[in-house]
Amino acid sequence: MTEAILTLANVESAYGPIKAIRGVSLVVTEGQIVTVLGSNGAGKTTILKTISGIIDPRKGSISFRGEDITAREPSEVVRLGLSHVPEGREVFPLLSVHDNLLMGAYTRKDRDGVARDMETVFGYFPILRERARIDAGLLSGGQQQMLAIARAILAGPALILLDEPSLGLSPKLTKEIFEIVVRINRERGTTILLVEQNANMALNVADHGYVLENGRIVMEDRCSVLREKDDIKEFYLGMK
Ligand code: ATP
Repeated sequence: MTEAILTLANVESAYGPIKAIRGVSLVVTEGQIVTVLGSNGAGKTTILKTISGIIDPRKGSISFRGEDITAREPSEVVRLGLSHVPEGREVFPLLSVHDNLLMGAYTRKDRDGVARDMETVFGYFPILRERARIDAGLLSGGQQQMLAIARAILAGPALILLDEPSLGLSPKLTKEIFEIVVRINRERGTTILLVEQNANMALNVADHGYVLENGRIVMEDRCSVLREKDDIKEFYLGMK
């Protein structure tokens, strides 16, 4: 269980003249929850978009399950077993909850597996079963976050990229969502790369963490070690 499922080597991405990430190297070990911490604008979302093929990197390389996926199309990356839950959920508002979930499975041919995964996500998020026929746009923010995670599971991924799942949610709902994220990791063996501004929550659930500042990784360690560092306590956990 110490094999890398995802490796970024010296990746640079930019929006026109704005360099958002500047030579990021990181490794995600199979079976783990790995988190990238960083303040607003540090480049966290850009890292995830670059991995899933939404943005092409200017430099560097990305490999997933031993394959070079640098600048591959997002649909190809999904087929290789990587699902992205974007910031702001991005569910299809005019489709029902059930149809949103089926959209997650569009690359799959194994109907039995899809049916099984549908049951699994309804087990994780019973409210989605209750609201299966309702338009996704009518769900609350928390329920849309649940739907976005559930839809990612329906793709049958080995790795889920999770962008700010706590955004706009109450502390109680955030805790519930993170409990499910941990269960997905432990029960299904799905590897998770989690981007979060809620450092306290992220450091509690993740095994390994990277700290990103101005597009560069400035620190990396096991989360149990990061939690005890003075800089982390002061800048990310709000402790003196
Ligand atoms: P947040 O928590 O606010 O989402 P982040 O750490 O995810 O922050 P990014 O969204 O990756 O950061 O942004 C990194 C940098 O790139 C920021 O300076 C941001 O202003 C810039 N940026 C992001 N998206 C665009 C865009 N579409 N066009 C131009 N600049 C962008």
